[in-house]
Amino acid sequence: MADPTGPQYGFDTLQIHAGARPDPATGARQVPIYQTTAYVFRDAEHAAALFNLQEVGYIYSRLTNPTIGALQERIATLEGGAGAVCCSSGHAAQIMALFPLMSPGMNVVASTRLYGGTVTQFSQTIKRFGWEAKFVDFDDLDAVKEAIDDNTRAVFCEAVANPGGYITDLDAISAISDTAGVPLIVDNTSATPYLCRPIEHGATLVVHSTTKYLTGNGTVTGGCVVDSGKFDWAANDKFPSLSQPEPAYHGLKFAETFGPLAFTFHGIAIGLRDLGMTMNPQAAHYTLMGIETLSLRMDRHVENAKRVAEWLENDPRVEYVTYAGLKSSPYYDRVEKICPRGAGGLFTFAVKGGYDACVKLVDNLEIFSHVANLGDTRSLIIHSASTTHRQLTAEQQEAAGAGPGVVRVSIGIEDAEDLIADLDQALSKATA
Ligand SMILES: *Cc1c(COP(=O)(O)O)cnc(C)c1O
Repeated sequence: MADPTGPQYGFDTLQIHAGARPDPATGARQVPIYQTTAYVFRDAEHAAALFNLQEVGYIYSRLTNPTIGALQERIATLEGGAGAVCCSSGHAAQIMALFPLMSPGMNVVASTRLYGGTVTQFSQTIKRFGWEAKFVDFDDLDAVKEAIDDNTRAVFCEAVANPGGYITDLDAISAISDTAGVPLIVDNTSATPYLCRPIEHGATLVVHSTTKYLTGNGTVTGGCVVDSGKFDWAANDKFPSLSQPEPAYHGLKFAETFGPLAFTFHGIAIGLRDLGMTMNPQAAHYTLMGIETLSLRMDRHVENAKRVAEWLENDPRVEYVTYAGLKSSPYYDRVEKICPRGAGGLFTFAVKGGYDACVKLVDNLEIFSHVANLGDTRSLIIHSASTTHRQLTAEQQEAAGAGPGVVRVSIGIEDAEDLIADLDQALSKATA
């Protein structure tokens, strides 16, 4: 049988087949969960070749595992990348993406419109590594250009930004990062490769929290870094981890030896080996299951989000709705260009009555769950200012679209009428 995983196949075929050949040992049709820590070497010579990176194979599950390997191949294929490395969470993926690029004194130029946890990771925690993040409004292209300096090693943004309503003009941003010779990292968690393919818009690396839509049902945390394979790491001396001899592998140069797979091999051989943020095979299994239905779910998330957003926008108890799929959105025109299949399932809305009304709304909903997650089959809601964005200053909250009078919803794939009825009854109580 031919291998139905090649680039000539459509998205719906690849989301099921990419990375998932029948198991070579048993013929198992579904990807087995390889619940093993280690792999037996054929002989001492085989072991030595594996440890020298002269032969690709399995040594120890902190580095590689066949179940996780299938998931890596599937996500890389769906994103149109050269390779991918999975890890334990979306936040781990961000560190895995930055680690080969950064060193003390270097900076990343990042959008102000990011997931709250990323703002905290970038503005606080990475300082301990001597790294710095410079936050800029990515609609102000001159400001992005100006922020990039000699020590900038990456530009970072989200395609469809969490908490929703904002779409980054990836073509404009990648033109700037290209000119500056700096890789563009795009967090594609909220859009997924079904709605947006950042590499086609010039992204160098794509990061994911697979915890969200890729898994799709709120069961496991995970992350992934996809490499486009298109960046020339050896063009100058800015990226010595990839272009210069690596002492831990007898002076091997990743860019020279692995070409378009340099970043992926570095992620496994150095990143996972030494940072240890490994995904486990059970998590990979759940995520592989989820991805099989990604396009079906995303179409329904988008359809439901649009219906609920339109209903809310016309409701007098609601001040405004920020869904990029609404004609009233300043980002409506970017949907066609960046994510033509729809603006995703996330958005925020402001309730008349501010902070108190938001808290009452959240407490009175029956179908929507009040949780710190998104991208689930279930509809979810959160009052960002009192939870996910709580650690941010008032200014950062506003910049991220998460002010005190705003709630974020992740619209699930239930019946849209039921979601609207639930919001209707809870809004009545919240604004009574
Ligand atoms: C959830 C999320 C993250 C972090 O992912 P975890 O799996 O929770 O670590 C990063 N970026 C975005 C856009 C997210 O929604």
